[in-house]
Amino acid sequence: MLLGVDDTDSPSGMCTTYLGALLARRLITMHMPVREARLLRLNPNVIYKTRGNAAICLEVDGDTDRVFEIACDMVAGLAHFSHENTNPGVVAVENRPAPDFYWKAVRDFCTTEEAVAVLEAAGARYKGFKNGRGLIGATAAVCSVVPDRTYEYLAYRDSDTFGTPRFVDRESLFDAEASTFPHTWDTVDVENNCVVCVPHTPDPVLFGIRGESPSWVAFARMQVKSEPTGVGQIFVTNQGTDAHLVEGKIGGLNEGYSYRVSGTVCSHSQTGRGGHVSIEIGNGDTVVRCMAYEPTKGFRNVLRALWSGDRVLVTGSYKGGSINLEKLCILTLAPAVTTRPPICPSCGARMTSAGLKKGYKCRKCGAHEKEPQITFHDRAITPGWYEVPPIARRHLAKPLCRGPLAPVQAIKTGRCYAWTRSINSPVSGESIESRMPCAGQAGMPESRNDRRRTCRTDGAGGSIQWRCTVPCRLHLRKNAP
Ligand code: ATP
Repeated sequence: MLLGVDDTDSPSGMCTTYLGALLARRLITMHMPVREARLLRLNPNVIYKTRGNAAICLEVDGDTDRVFEIACDMVAGLAHFSHENTNPGVVAVENRPAPDFYWKAVRDFCTTEEAVAVLEAAGARYKGFKNGRGLIGATAAVCSVVPDRTYEYLAYRDSDTFGTPRFVDRESLFDAEASTFPHTWDTVDVENNCVVCVPHTPDPVLFGIRGESPSWVAFARMQVKSEPTGVGQIFVTNQGTDAHLVEGKIGGLNEGYSYRVSGTVCSHSQTGRGGHVSIEIGNGDTVVRCMAYEPTKGFRNVLRALWSGDRVLVTGSYKGGSINLEKLCILTLAPAVTTRPPICPSCGARMTSAGLKKGYKCRKCGAHEKEPQITFHDRAITPGWYEVPPIARRHLAKPLCRGPLAPVQAIKTGRCYAWTRSINSPVSGESIESRMPCAGQAGMPESRNDRRRTCRTDGAGGSIQWRCTVPCRLHLRKNAP
């Protein structure tokens, strides 16, 4: 059977994932095995969300009615009912209903009535506390399909320490990332030298490690030194999958949806108050503003390097008339050419326009010239994908380290993955092929022209032999026709 729960927390505490982890333990101790725990991120533009718009689903070998009663009791005991925006929902259903409602909840907006209609049709048991809005997330959770799945190890705090300052050793987080990236990501932001995986809110989460498999997140987690932890739970998630994106067209974008949109850059970027950078892209008829806000840090320089005429594909949410950028792919660069009145060949003074289509004339000696002075510039940027840094990444946005994205298979993250090794996972014992980022990593040589070069480095598990298999320059492989 499937159990869905949502909307149990408030800005002052609790977290639906924590309740899910506790619930899983309670069910297991009552001899009802939990086959899978899912953490689903839903439409990030929903205004009622407390933090990341998460809902959870547990797949349980147990009696539906019994599981439902246990879940309702736990929600009644732990949810933050005093907050007006906490409206929990609990759903229990024998078989997974069609995924349509899940996709709608990830990409669109739903009503409680729509959720109830799905639940009635599926013969589910359900309870909506207070205004029952949590039924939307809980229903989406039990309807969920995760064709592209990632994992998160959530380490929770000991309940006695809730609300007190957290202690997680910063260096151990950087070490955990260095030894597992790109199989785990967003533990820290190397470029901006900051920790990403430890929340600052008063909820029970101590830290969360995101990655491509349970082995990798558990391997990274084992390297983290911190205050004593409470429960830990590995969730299957839709995080980092771009599940929220739909294809969009400039001129036909709807508020609160997240899109993949292509267009041509219409003007140079503008930097506004607070360091937010904007650029306009168009499709001939209409233009739309794309924003890179100050927290996106170095990503703003990508916008600053664009020129009129560059063709781009952007992803992000359409809010308040702008696309808030998550990623940007430069498809083609416009020739970088500027023109200005020429230097007078007779006297060396700068000429001025002689009028529309009349060429140029020298105000000093009266000479005439037809052609302007043309300057070709080097472009400071190359085609390919660019992304906001981990510190500014949304839960659902797919990081480029997860693999190349169509239509241009390019990785431009400042780190590349040319070094491989095989290690035995200390968690499962299985052999895992690992790709090691080399650019900017201490001790890793540049291997641009040397495919067979080997080196030794200290990594997790001692001294490891590394082998370069592809040229490790930040590579560009055009896939598009
Ligand atoms: P929590 O840890 O409690 O899940 P959160 O940040 O994930 O916190 P919620 O407190 O769950 O946010 O608030 C989100 C609310 O919005 C929930 O009631 C959920 O049912 C509802 N919701 C989620 N997705 C949609 C959607 N697509 N359309 C309308 N309502 C939605």
